[in-house]
Amino acid sequence: MREILHIQGGQCGNQIGSKFWEVICDEHGVDPTGRYKGDGSSDNQLERINVYFNEASGGRYVPRAVLMDLEPGTMDAIRSGPYGQIFRPDNFVFGQSGAGNNWAKGHYTEGAELIDAVLDVVRKEAENCDCLQGFQVCHSLGGGTGSGMGTLLISKIREEYPDRMMLTFSVFPSPKVSDTVVEPYNATLSVHQLVENADECMVLDNEALYDICFRTLKLTTPSFGDLNHLISATMSGVTCCLRFPGQLNSDLRKLAVNLIPFPRLHFFMVGFAPLTSRGSQHYISLSVPELTQQMWDAKNMMCAADPRHGRYLTASAMFRGKMSTKEVDEQMLNVQNKNSSYFVEWIPNNVKSSVCDIPPTGLKMSSTFVGNSTSIQEMFRRVSEQFTAMFRRKAFLHWYTGEGMDEMEFTEAESNMNDLVAEYQQYQDATADEEEEYEEGIEEQYEG
Ligand code: GDP
Repeated sequence: MREILHIQGGQCGNQIGSKFWEVICDEHGVDPTGRYKGDGSSDNQLERINVYFNEASGGRYVPRAVLMDLEPGTMDAIRSGPYGQIFRPDNFVFGQSGAGNNWAKGHYTEGAELIDAVLDVVRKEAENCDCLQGFQVCHSLGGGTGSGMGTLLISKIREEYPDRMMLTFSVFPSPKVSDTVVEPYNATLSVHQLVENADECMVLDNEALYDICFRTLKLTTPSFGDLNHLISATMSGVTCCLRFPGQLNSDLRKLAVNLIPFPRLHFFMVGFAPLTSRGSQHYISLSVPELTQQMWDAKNMMCAADPRHGRYLTASAMFRGKMSTKEVDEQMLNVQNKNSSYFVEWIPNNVKSSVCDIPPTGLKMSSTFVGNSTSIQEMFRRVSEQFTAMFRRKAFLHWYTGEGMDEMEFTEAESNMNDLVAEYQQYQDATADEEEEYEEGIEEQYEG
């Protein structure tokens, strides 16, 4: 068995994390008390259930999940919610102080005080595993706990388990949704950490999630519940190949090998089709060509960046439901042939697809897209501009220096993120330049 240990931190992380568990419990036929109430496809539902669940005495399935927060509210709500009883009570680790949307409190002061308690639980879960493949962390980057303490935990885990994979589901802040002005600070300090200490990051950008809700789903005042519905559908799709039998991307390392040509460039755009709002999914049914077309569409990306402004280094598509693999392959090739300039040609066969028989609950078919696109720099640029506007005047800095942080760390985080943007740009341009040189060379030959 190749287990994954799930960790959720802070308000956002706990909210999206608990939705994730609701969705996958349902897909694997596990009821809110942890009992298997399968639908007859029990082989499929149970074959790889140990990737995410422990089996407790009495045949109960228990999420291999650790929940952490610096205040009790969100976790209390989970505990008293519909799936509250499924989690192991010892795995709720929380404080009372809060992080006040301050990354420094999460990373250096309040969070640092609680981190050993979290690591104890993590260690206990890891020791119970047959062969742990890695960790997945759910958090937001705009607040204090998920962001500051989340990245502290990631670095501690990296230290203790250097050869295990680290996957994150990271929610990027947007002024369209956010509560506070310092979110670009928190996000930039976090990206600085994620570049070094995470192996793969699924980018969930509140700006794009808001736009999908508003423009495509026609929700006039999208709530976190609406945004999180999109997130949980995507998380279920992304992890489908890890949870069900299949070939492509069947573990975290294989996923990384296919998608990451350069180690720092591990921030993925994810997309989902069909897009549905809460409660409406039962009415939507799409064909394979429609799924394929929508999945590649900028409007379906959970990241506010337009793939047509960049190029794909790599991409993976996971289709779910009963459909013809041949048709999927044809449709995928079709997209690549028609749009070949949007794929770097110096990585041949950089798009992979797979089909998993089991559709998500409520849909006949769906598809999930994971792309490593140089256009993701647009989102980093957005955050970076917001960061720089404030940092230039040292606005709000005293909240961080007051927790003992040095201004230097801000400067380093800023330049690390700017470097990242420059690296994406470099690989985006890579071929264009070489082609030009090549063509100029040929012209010279002819002129000569
Ligand atoms: P923490 O508890 O200190 O980690 O802080 P939060 O998780 O509340 O972080 C604030 C950021 O997360 C802001 O950018 C919010 O817009 C975002 N956020 C908070 N809750 C949710 C949620 O349930 N869903 C989504 N998509 N974003 C959230």
